[in-house]
Amino acid sequence: MVNLHHETTCIFKVAIPSPLNRLFDYLPPIGVDYQHIQLGCRLQVPFGNSHKIGYLVAISQHSDVPIDKLKATIQILDQQSLLSPQDLQLLHWASQYYHHPLGQVIATAFPVSLRQGKIAQRQQQKTYGLTALGYQIDSETLRRAPKQKALLAWFKEHGNTPESALSLKDANAKATIKQLLSKQLLELKHTEMLAPVHNAIPDWPCNAPQQQAITAVVAGLSTFQVFLLEGVTGSGKTEVYMRIISEVLARGQQVLVLVPEITLTPQLEERFFSRFAVAISVSHSRLTDNQRQEAWLQMQQGVCSIMLGTRSALFTPFKNLGLIILDEEHDASFKQQEGFRFSARDVAVVRGKLLGIPVLLGSATPSLESLYNVQKQRYQWLHLPERAGNASAPSLQLLDIRNKKMQEGLSEQLLAEIRQTLEKQEQVLLFLNRRGFAPTLICHSCAWVARCPRCDANLVIHAQQRQLRCHHCAAEQSLPSRCPACQDVQLTALGLGTERVEQVLARLFTGKTIIRLDRDSTQRKGSLENYLAQINSGAADIILGTQMLAKGHHFANVTLVAILDVDSGLFSVDFHAAEKLAQLVVQVAGRAGREEKLGKVLMQTRKPDHPLLTTLIQEGYQRFAEIALAERKDAQLPPYSYQALLRAQANDADVVYVFLQQLAELLRGHAKVQILGPIPAPMAKRAGLFRYQLLFQARQRPVLHSLLEDMLAQIANMKQAKKVRWSLDVDPVDLY
Ligand code: ADP
Ligand code: ZN
Ligand code: ZN
Repeated sequence: MVNLHHETTCIFKVAIPSPLNRLFDYLPPIGVDYQHIQLGCRLQVPFGNSHKIGYLVAISQHSDVPIDKLKATIQILDQQSLLSPQDLQLLHWASQYYHHPLGQVIATAFPVSLRQGKIAQRQQQKTYGLTALGYQIDSETLRRAPKQKALLAWFKEHGNTPESALSLKDANAKATIKQLLSKQLLELKHTEMLAPVHNAIPDWPCNAPQQQAITAVVAGLSTFQVFLLEGVTGSGKTEVYMRIISEVLARGQQVLVLVPEITLTPQLEERFFSRFAVAISVSHSRLTDNQRQEAWLQMQQGVCSIMLGTRSALFTPFKNLGLIILDEEHDASFKQQEGFRFSARDVAVVRGKLLGIPVLLGSATPSLESLYNVQKQRYQWLHLPERAGNASAPSLQLLDIRNKKMQEGLSEQLLAEIRQTLEKQEQVLLFLNRRGFAPTLICHSCAWVARCPRCDANLVIHAQQRQLRCHHCAAEQSLPSRCPACQDVQLTALGLGTERVEQVLARLFTGKTIIRLDRDSTQRKGSLENYLAQINSGAADIILGTQMLAKGHHFANVTLVAILDVDSGLFSVDFHAAEKLAQLVVQVAGRAGREEKLGKVLMQTRKPDHPLLTTLIQEGYQRFAEIALAERKDAQLPPYSYQALLRAQANDADVVYVFLQQLAELLRGHAKVQILGPIPAPMAKRAGLFRYQLLFQARQRPVLHSLLEDMLAQIANMKQAKKVRWSLDVDPVDLY
């Protein structure tokens, strides 16, 4: 029997967030007009025994499934697609390039609430503005209420402002607004004003290199081009961004600014807020779902001009995007390390190309990939050689600690330097990239070492909590008082962690305020902000911390920076390690002497002749990068070749090994791709699972990607694959 109705039926091809890398076919919803449906619309569809939210990616007349087996779409959630055709094109590209299921890729573009099917509606914005009284009143009458006074001043300068923008500026804004409302200085306005009012560009001139950079990018607005702005910390990169941004805003376009970790850069946020009197959205993981949705929709509808966000903000749809800026482009946090392992930097470049707009990458320590792209003339290099204003560059020195007397990792010479700095009422910053008290607990009599039962790792001593903790899985136990092997009581803490250094500093510098910044000390919400405020107010004398310190902070009164154990970064199986260490050293050094005081940077080492350290100190990061690139070229490592890493794990080591070995065998036909492995992962066991990997490397991208496609098809047919957990990492930034 021929069913005439079915011949004219459309089939919806739907991308659904699931590990299956394929589309699913559905019939349109019954009794609903779908003539005007657009690609990208969210759909609610039946899936298994329940239902899911999927995304319409194509409409076809054809299905491989018999039509009478197809289920109908339950509901069309969006009248118009929230994503533009270019947004969809970008997501398709990313799904193909990273070999990641399209449904999951599209889902990452949406905030969680929209992924779950919430309607895409903005919250009703409350916008406030000054009353006539508010305009007239002399702000001195509010001098006893500094917060109210400040807010009043803000309104005088910026005009009507939505509540959301105020609470982004200050978490307590609501209370202050209420007080001003009750004094009839402020009133509720009903306009949804979000248009630019003015830009508070400072009247001092930019220096010549800054001006050159600005001119180059501004000349290239409305065309695709990638710029790499290289300049040491304090050279005025942010100032360059801001002046270019105001040009883009003047053309009525929006700007996306991506930063590594926003909660670590509150100062950047503040600078943007005080510079631009336009709506600015901030998007990062500490926002609530509602706040995120609001920020996302504001950009999508074009009522907000600037989005400042982390990696996950990259796929936010914009009504009229004119520029993408990626600050600290070398930072590893731009690469997502689980699930959909995309590089925000690389995808940003593709997005710029699709939209025909410039992409501006900035860093004091550009990645080797970006420098290579400059060499190849794919990116245009812009350089700010000196610190802006009156700040001078810090001097870098090695402190040879071989055979030196040390107190818990601090040499006599370093202690003397700390003392001198504190005497001048200046601040000291100490860097140690290891949290906890000590990395090893060992028995003095039988050499037993506390190991994590589930990982290939030692347990770390956390003295404050009297615990042993694994930094790779959730394992923790209380600190034993006797050796479990020989019952001896002489257990010794070996090595240094931030807690331990904090203790010795407290003992040696009594009366001084010491602040420790690491993941343990900043767990409570708001604690990091508190510490930063203490540091900036001058209340802190010594700041001690992990890599949290290397990012973005401007500590104006810090004049001595010391890296306590630079050697720990010198030895690694991963070829990326040298680059990362060099970047870390230069970034940490950049925290010193921001203003007019001269800064000093000391690095304690037992390898004072190590070429990486001597090059960095005597010749600087640029020379280091040249040498490192030459080494990569000799070894044919990225960026001179392309890599992909297949990681696999299971609770039986043999199962993983056999799986990868069979897979490698099946792929031998791809002659132009080198296959390394299976080899155990650098941490061969983690959280009870055994881990192996296969590394693929090729001179050309296409041959690598054709192998990966073949590989995924093979995996889908392998029985072994069901017993392991595997993940694919294209362009891995670390091999762990
Ligand atoms: P970066 O982003 O490279 O660390 P910033 O843009 O934050 O540098 O600039 C560092 C400091 O110098 C800031 O306080 C900034 O206001 C100031 N600054 C930037 N450019 C100039 C300039 N041309 N003249 C004077 N001060 C400047
Ligand atoms: Zn023992
Ligand atoms: Zn563990």
